Amino acid sequence: MATELSARKAAIKPDVPSAPTPIESAGKLLESSYEQVLAAFGAMGYPVDTDDNFAETAGRAARAMLELVRPVGDIQRELEDMLARTFPARYDSMVVSKHNTCFGMCPHHLLPVVYRVSVAYLPSDRVLGISKLSRMVHLLARRPVLQEDFTHELAEILFERLKTRGSAAYIEGLHLCMAARGIEAHEARVVTSAVRGAFRDQPATRQEFLDLVTAPQPSLL
Ligand SMILES: [Zn+2]
Repeated sequence: MATELSARKAAIKPDVPSAPTPIESAGKLLESSYEQVLAAFGAMGYPVDTDDNFAETAGRAARAMLELVRPVGDIQRELEDMLARTFPARYDSMVVSKHNTCFGMCPHHLLPVVYRVSVAYLPSDRVLGISKLSRMVHLLARRPVLQEDFTHELAEILFERLKTRGSAAYIEGLHLCMAARGIEAHEARVVTSAVRGAFRDQPATRQEFLDLVTAPQPSLL
């Protein structure tokens, strides 16, 4: 181990700058883009050059965007990590992670979406820790993808990758592109669901899941 480490250290040439990470590249692009956004606000009459509140805004907005949207490579690595650490299944009954509130991004308007995500699966040989299930949902939300795709991907991963007998995903989305602009449909929720395996083939199993996740709850936020 020690020899491997020193060999690796020796291979690093200190005078050659390392290639920027996806986060660093994206951060620079975003910051200069937000400077343009501020210039546009200036054109609309806002005091972006004289009001101190705007002084650090471009960099701050760039960092905020990088929290809402994570690099594809990072997401894939973290997902593989989670799927690599499963436990032997001791029971075969439904595992449900219900009402995970998480945040994503609409690819059409680049505005945030507040999601309430419920997922379930019927174990075969292996189970995922229940906190992992919730972490997976939060991780996969942080992408500029359609809610429909997000829903089907969750069901697909829990069915195909975890090799379960069936899986389901049910998502309610409050899309700021609908709630804060356009038709200003403040109360409108986009609802999507996806089922695989036993949840698709057995109506009673699907209904049990839907009853669990659609029971009355406090509002989304
Ligand atoms: Zn949108």
